[in-house]
Amino acid sequence: MIVLGIETTCDETAAAIVSRDADGRGQILSNVVLSQTDEHAAFGGVVPEIAARAHVEVLDLLIARALDEAQCDLSAVDGIAAAAGPGLIGGVIVGLTTAKALALVNRTPLIAVNHLEAHALTARLTDGVDFPYCLFLASGGHTQIVAVRGVGDYVLLGNTMDDAIGEAFDKTAKLLGLPYPGGPQVEQEAKRGDPNRFALPRPLHGRREPDFSLSGLKTALRVEAERIAPINDRDVADLCASFQQAIVDLIYDRLRMGLRVFAERYGVPNALVAAGGVAANQAVRGVLQRLATQAGIQLVVPPPALCTDNGAMIAWAGAERLAAGLTDQLDVAPRARWPLEQVAGSHVDVRT
Ligand code: ATP
Ligand code: MG
Ligand code: FE
Repeated sequence: MIVLGIETTCDETAAAIVSRDADGRGQILSNVVLSQTDEHAAFGGVVPEIAARAHVEVLDLLIARALDEAQCDLSAVDGIAAAAGPGLIGGVIVGLTTAKALALVNRTPLIAVNHLEAHALTARLTDGVDFPYCLFLASGGHTQIVAVRGVGDYVLLGNTMDDAIGEAFDKTAKLLGLPYPGGPQVEQEAKRGDPNRFALPRPLHGRREPDFSLSGLKTALRVEAERIAPINDRDVADLCASFQQAIVDLIYDRLRMGLRVFAERYGVPNALVAAGGVAANQAVRGVLQRLATQAGIQLVVPPPALCTDNGAMIAWAGAERLAAGLTDQLDVAPRARWPLEQVAGSHVDVRT
């Protein structure tokens, strides 16, 4: 089957064509992404109204290009998938409404995909990972440890109580005057800094529940920066290195706990899977590899372009749902909030 996927939940406008064969193997036929980073850079973050307008302006063209690059006619598409949330509601409406129109005109099934579900299933497209596996999703808006047990069968094991890890990277960058988006900048600075110069907290370290909390770390970093102000280049590098080390230590502790809870409830997972922009960070990858090796399981990190927001992951999640017979009605509503555990699925939930 061939599925068109549309992504407009944040500041990337994306469209892609993905195929899925009868054995469940996927192939990306095209994957077109247009980032709005430049349009938001002057504001130091994503401006929802600007994002929604930008999606409207380019989405039709991107879909045409995705079809063109895949050398695929719309009539050959078996399903139209769009991210129906969670995300900035203006953008979600643009993508989902476009998908509805295409599905209606072509008499093709519509699949309303949860954006987080798409991140969660990407490893099956890239590496054919079998269920169940442990997902570590760390992006600009989310930090979650999820037991992925089947299509539509997700159990949240751990979550952040405040900021997401990517958000913490972005705020650190902003505090230190580094350009947006901040994650990659902080990583660059950290490479030449001293990770032991500043004693930053590791919130929730040692707790049994595999949750995260980042706001205390953020505050501690600001206090340190203010204490030594005015800060020079050396200070910026050391602050970045100390911050990143705290994040790495936190991920090690919290995710080790998450893997333990997973094993207790569902047995040893088939893999540790990373998703979200933070997985592009080399130090983060290093600690994930250490955890996977210790657990005796494979680490799967999709390539960076498929870890951050893209259309292929939406198309693939659409194909997985379509294959499971999970399609949606044309009146399905866009959702700003849509927790992963609330995704309707093919499995009866046996959680207690
Ligand atoms: P969500 O998927 O939760 O809605 P999002 O779409 O903004 O959020 P992604 O596009 O997956 O998230 O990832 C962007 C985030 O990843 C940003 O917060 C960015 O700073 C962070 N990030 C990207 N590269 C790196 C890096 N090398 N090191 C640390 N963080 C990074
Ligand atoms: Mg993004
Ligand atoms: Fe995302």
